[in-house]
Amino acid sequence: QARKRFGQNFLQDHGVIDRIIRSIHPKPDECMVEIGPGLGAITEELLAATDGKLNVVELDRDLIPILRTKFFNYPDFVIHEADALKFDFNQLASPGQPLRLVGNLPYNISTPLIFHLLKHVDNMRDMHFMLQKEVVDRLAAGPGENNYGRLGIMAQYYCQIQPLFIVPPESFDPRPKVDSAIVRLTPYKELPHPVKEVKTLEKVVRTAFTMRRKTLRNALSAMISAEELDALGINSALRPENLSLADYVKISDSITDRAK
Ligand code: SAM
Repeated sequence: QARKRFGQNFLQDHGVIDRIIRSIHPKPDECMVEIGPGLGAITEELLAATDGKLNVVELDRDLIPILRTKFFNYPDFVIHEADALKFDFNQLASPGQPLRLVGNLPYNISTPLIFHLLKHVDNMRDMHFMLQKEVVDRLAAGPGENNYGRLGIMAQYYCQIQPLFIVPPESFDPRPKVDSAIVRLTPYKELPHPVKEVKTLEKVVRTAFTMRRKTLRNALSAMISAEELDALGINSALRPENLSLADYVKISDSITDRAK
């Protein structure tokens, strides 16, 4: 019986599972980590591709014995009974072995989980996730697009975002109400728009988008003046959704410099 509070929608379409595995292309010497293995639909294929070397993080304790029994013959299969939102993924990485994360994520926590994972990008090669299509759209959205906002800007600060393919509700049991999609996030080795202080960028973006209907000048008035925005070459009459990541980095750096 799937549990709603754990966001459980189990994949049952083998065509989709194959396509996910082909997109990831896992190899035996890699450090793969699956978030929310559930009943092991993707896990099984990952184990086959990695010669049984796999870490999984699962919160629902009733699923642990099922996974243990199902995959008892893989000695390098490690189950972490833990909340992925609080899990320190860095502990699984070793020098020269960046992590490759995979997961059909619980949709009820996908946004906070992505923010949590962005804290671990230094130790990550890539991430492949199943998400609500709407969340994938937000991750990939650029300035002026409907879904553009804090999630997309912060994810794009650290990662290249590639939406891969759409997965319909029929591929799951139970069926979710909405379309899902697979997305690949690849952390940049060198950030395209490095900011002086990430905390300031986070604060600027959060503040701007809690008042997305206001002009930039009004939304950010507590942090930066219209004159300072003009001096940066940023039109203060624009709305937060019209600014690029590079603009937000400029604003943040100017606030950081002023504070010195
Ligand atoms: N991977 C399986 C599949 O594709 O069939 C299950 C996917 S299901 C959408 C999400 C999984 O994440 C469930 O197994 C659920 O118990 C687990 N989960 C939910 N919240 C979690 C959390 N905070 N940390 C770790 N796992 C969680």
